[in-house]
Formats: sequence, C-alpha cells, structure tokens
Amino acid sequence: MNYYSLNHKAPNSTFKNAVIKGLAPDKGLYFPESITPLPEDFFKNIDDLSYSQIAFEAIKQFVSPEIPEDILKTIVEETLSFDFPVVKLNDNISTLELFHGPTMAFKDVGARFMARCLGYFNRNNDKEVTVLVATSGDTGGAVANGFLGVKGVNVVILYPSGKVSDIQEKQLTTLGQNITALEVDGVFDDCQAMVKTAFLDDALTSKMQLTSANSINVARWLPQLFYFMFAYKQLHKKYDNIVFSVPSGNFGNVCAGMMAQQLGLPVKHFVASNNLNNVVTRYLQSQLYEPKPSIQTISNAMDVGAPSNFIRIQEIYKNKFETLKDNVSSYSFTDEATKEALLEIYNDYNYVADPHGAVGYLGCKAYLQDNPDAHCVFLETAHPTKFLDVVEEVIKEEQPLPKQIQSVMGKEKTSIKITTYEELKAFLLS
Ligand SMILES: *Cc1c(COP(=O)(O)O)cnc(C)c1O
Repeated sequence: MNYYSLNHKAPNSTFKNAVIKGLAPDKGLYFPESITPLPEDFFKNIDDLSYSQIAFEAIKQFVSPEIPEDILKTIVEETLSFDFPVVKLNDNISTLELFHGPTMAFKDVGARFMARCLGYFNRNNDKEVTVLVATSGDTGGAVANGFLGVKGVNVVILYPSGKVSDIQEKQLTTLGQNITALEVDGVFDDCQAMVKTAFLDDALTSKMQLTSANSINVARWLPQLFYFMFAYKQLHKKYDNIVFSVPSGNFGNVCAGMMAQQLGLPVKHFVASNNLNNVVTRYLQSQLYEPKPSIQTISNAMDVGAPSNFIRIQEIYKNKFETLKDNVSSYSFTDEATKEALLEIYNDYNYVADPHGAVGYLGCKAYLQDNPDAHCVFLETAHPTKFLDVVEEVIKEEQPLPKQIQSVMGKEKTSIKITTYEELKAFLLS
C-alpha cells in the first residue's frame, strides 16, 4: 500500500517509508491511497476467526507487500497476546476493556505492532532509528514497553513534568536500556510542539533518522482498528445498531474505528467523547474549527488542544461536514461530571471505570437519550489503578494493584529535565 500526504505537497510513500519517517516531508499526515472493504463473509463468519486472524485480514492491505504475510502473522500474534473482553453494564451500554496489555493502556497494541514493524524493517541494522514521542500519559509507557530492547531503535520520550500520574511516570522512566525519558517543564502541547519542530529541523534530520510513535505514525494508528472488530465479534449476535463511544484526545483511536467502518464493519455511529478539551465538539456545533491551548483535567491522556488525527477523519468523510455529522457525534464533559459518572458506574453496576472510560460512558448516555435503540460500547482505554488518586477518592474504596502495575511501583525514576527545544536538540545530537 502506498500513502499520500494530507498536505498534498509531498511524493507518495511506501508503508516502510511512512513508518520510518512518521510525518511526510510537507508536514502532512500519511493516509492510505485506497481502502478496499473486506468481503461480506468476513463479518458474517467472524465468529469462526481468532483475534489474530481478524487482525491479519484487516491490516494486510495496508502493510503489504513490504511486510510479507508470514512475518505479518507473527507480528499480529505477538502484538495481541492478551485479551479484549466486552463487559455488559446494561441492555444499552457495554464497555470494551482495552487495558489488559503490559502497560494497561490501549496504546499497547499500536506500540507493539509498530515496534515489530520497525524491528523488521531494521532487521539488518542498516541505520539506527530514533523514535521521538510526546506523551500526555499513556503513550510513553506503552511505547517504552513496546520498543524495549528492539535492536537498532532508540526511544526518546517527552512528557510534561507533574502532569502525568505517578504510575504513568514510573512506566516511562524506569526501563533504561534503549529508552530515555525527557521531563519537560510545560504541558503536553509543548512536548508535541517540540517533537514537531524536531521533525522539521534539517540540521537534526540530516544527522539522524527520526520517527514518531504517536498516532500520526500509520503503524501506531492503524492497528487500533482491530478493537472495533473484536467488540463486534463479541456483540453482533446480541445487538444491532452498535455505536462506539471513544474517549478522545488526539482522535487516533476513534479515527481507527472509522477505518474499520470503511473496511465494512457494521457500525451505526461514533461518539467522540471529550473532557473540556473539546475543539471537535465545538466544531460539530458551529462548523468552526478553533483549537485552543490544552486544559489540564483528570482524564489527562485526553488533554489535547489540537488533535492531530482530526484531519484524517475529515479525509475519511471526504471533507463533507454533513457526512461527518451523520456519522459522528461529540460531547464534552467536566471533571465534576466525570467523577459523578465514576461513582454511578460503581454504584449501579459494581464496575470500576477509569476517568477516560467514565467520559466514554457519559458519551454513551448522552447519545442514547436521542437514540434509545442503539447499543453503545464505550472504550475503557486504561486500567482504573493508573488513575488511583481520582478513582479511590471518588469510590472511597482501595483498589488492588494488578501485577503489571506492581512491577513498576518500586523502581527508581530516571529522567532528564528540559525546558526548551534547544535543549532537546542538544540532547539528540549528543
Ligand atoms: C491516548 C489515550 C486516549 C486518547 O486516545 P486518542 O487516540 O489520542 O484519541 C484516551 N484514553 C487513554 C487512557 C489514553 O491513553
């Protein structure tokens, strides 16, 4: 598959080049040249397919021929070595748990898939690649874990100092080996801006091969479309009118869901659920796209002022506002509402959600008000103990720590503090 730049001022690219470069030379995001729907039988007979088989069939067209089929089979099997259960709350609402991976964040799948693709492309160790990634919380841990020990790849993670949870910080600052954490005096948008500047800095990119492991990278973004198919497999016999409510920050996950829909997955509608960082909610109301600096919230992985994947969503719907509006709704919720939702989910269903999942749950409730015959699945994007302070304060009950979390708690943090882009550059060149 070839990819074109959404800025339309760069040559088309192979999958391999798109993964290694991250962003096109004209700063545009890469988008696949074509999307061929899967045969109808694929969805009819989905019960007969394993998760790895579903994933293999769904992603094949986007990575071939550069990743041969036998290699791709191994990559998806290794990537998907944990479960993706749907838990029913009531007849209208379920949750898809995406937190059973090694860092208990949904980003594990994209990070593991991308790391294996890059490892394959770099199998002869031709040239070292530096993965540069900005994180608002979970990306850093998932990327660090996914890339740990991958030969020929160095990982540099920028995170906003004091604005990620303790557990998230441990997950990205305690691994060592080929992973370095840079602690930025600023907010997530500052980290993301520095990463973008680095990619455009010829003095830097002429000396080293930089790539990104944010959802701008096609190998991080596309595998997320698996989730929607896994949920469909578990629900299609019980419910029609399946709707996904996706807690959204950079809008990579919800955009991947839309790719699954383009492949033929029967999805009735998407709900992009937001905290107060709500540029898309406002856009769908006013048709005016006005990014704002990010605001800190308790669902911090969604504290994104200018979501990078929104341009891909517009491309999927051919830049037609009405088509977009028919397929996607967006709602925005305060921290207070999110906490109330956490408590309600706990009291009514004896289920412990995390703040991001709680925003997704609120999105379901808002959508169901006008569409009572839908079945809405909200994505649980992180395990609740990753946001222990908030969760325990609200439900007033101590939470047992899963083994993935326990294993990092005692480890010592190592980070390098930086404030400016020049410091980042000096570090990368050193
Ligand atoms: C990254 C993240 C999100 C937002 O996902 P996007 O693809 O950036 O929209 C939501 N919840 C959690 C826990 C995350 O880590």
